[in-house]
Amino acid sequence: MSNATIIDEKALNDCLNEITRALLQADVQFKLVRDMQTNIKKIVNLDDLAAGHNKRRIIQQAIFNELCKILDPGKPSFTPKKGKPSVVMFVGLQGSGKTTTCTKYAYYHQKKGWKPALVCADTFRAGAFDQLKQNATKAKIPFYGSYMESDPVKIAVEGVERFKKENCDLIIVDTSGRHKQEAALFEEMRQVSEATKPDLVIFVMDSSIGQAAFDQAQAFKQSVAVGAVIVTKMDGHAKGGGALSAVAATKSPVIFIGTGEHMDEFEVFDVKPFVSRLLGMGDWSGFMDKIHEVVPMDQQPELLQKLSEGNFTLRIMYEQFQNLLKMGPIGQVFSMLPGFSAELMPKGHEKESQAKIKRYMTMMDSMTNEELDSSNPKLMNESRMMRIARGAGRPIRDVMEMLEEYKRLAKVWSKMKGLKIPKKGEMSALSRNMNA
Ligand code: GDP
Repeated sequence: MSNATIIDEKALNDCLNEITRALLQADVQFKLVRDMQTNIKKIVNLDDLAAGHNKRRIIQQAIFNELCKILDPGKPSFTPKKGKPSVVMFVGLQGSGKTTTCTKYAYYHQKKGWKPALVCADTFRAGAFDQLKQNATKAKIPFYGSYMESDPVKIAVEGVERFKKENCDLIIVDTSGRHKQEAALFEEMRQVSEATKPDLVIFVMDSSIGQAAFDQAQAFKQSVAVGAVIVTKMDGHAKGGGALSAVAATKSPVIFIGTGEHMDEFEVFDVKPFVSRLLGMGDWSGFMDKIHEVVPMDQQPELLQKLSEGNFTLRIMYEQFQNLLKMGPIGQVFSMLPGFSAELMPKGHEKESQAKIKRYMTMMDSMTNEELDSSNPKLMNESRMMRIARGAGRPIRDVMEMLEEYKRLAKVWSKMKGLKIPKKGEMSALSRNMNA
């Protein structure tokens, strides 16, 4: 839309189609995307907009707001109160990260002065109790479970009673993970819920489950009173569009996201940066804050100048790769941009990512200055690619892959074109504008 000179019906449709593609790629459910399209067409009536109105802004704002609305189920989840005993039960598919998330949730509250406790009511998976015990011990959180007892309801009730007596204010019950089809396990989950009467049931969902999110969340909601959602593995490739489906299916808000395997890789869910990420807009406020936080003052203007020009050359990519590998201050800044971090260097795959980046840099070492400084993609014809491949001793396929990566990053970079160089005090205003 930013390339269109006139914002008419066609420009709006093109824009909506592009956004539809982005959302489907981010695993947002097809029906939600279609409903959103219809709503936006209703809200944005191009004929009614008086001349002089900034139509682009109005359309952008409408899309952003629609997505935020999907993530807002209208009512907040039950929030446990410090000092008052609450029982919180965790449910989710096996492998979703449920056990890990239980401990993260406990640890998060413990750091804020709560007295949490963990109960392992997963008697289905061998090793579940050991895992919980290990995590709990590391975090110095009391736990309860049994190697002998096979009745999860009995363990859950005993654990909850015991920790109530010990004045714990956040009693967390981990249940067995299950597959959607396992009717017996769903029944077991229902019984645990009936016996322990949780104040809150949290559905844990892996961000990479894709289009299956809606049906899975709905299946859980039909068996127990799900009141909140936690989305895990947001540090990986998935953009987490399934979260919109989970909210729609359970009519419950997302409350936290998991961003890594470690205990403290756990964040309170914030709608706006999440939607920015879904749309590929990056977390601008975090990005600008980071620039001011880690880049030495005298280097800030140069960096921001380059960004605001929006011309991404292969030489800039080379420099940014150097920074990423060193993870110096500027590398830290760029690791916050979704295109640079999540896709190029996903957590847990650092070794492979580094090898890939080094491979790209070796190929760029065989490029001429003209090639490195050009932002014209047509310059890289076949004979140049063959020369580079020979020079670097790599197949031409690798050169093509590197150029694809360059194009992708150039797109991320170009979103920052026209960036105003903010003074410190102006920052939050600027990030608000960009997020909107
Ligand atoms: P459960 O079967 O649902 O209880 O799942 P687990 O808690 O055992 O987690 C399954 C795997 O996912 C483990 O290897 C965890 O370390 C990993 N995991 C859980 N949460 C996250 C997360 O937010 N990010 C990443 N990268 N891994 C996670």
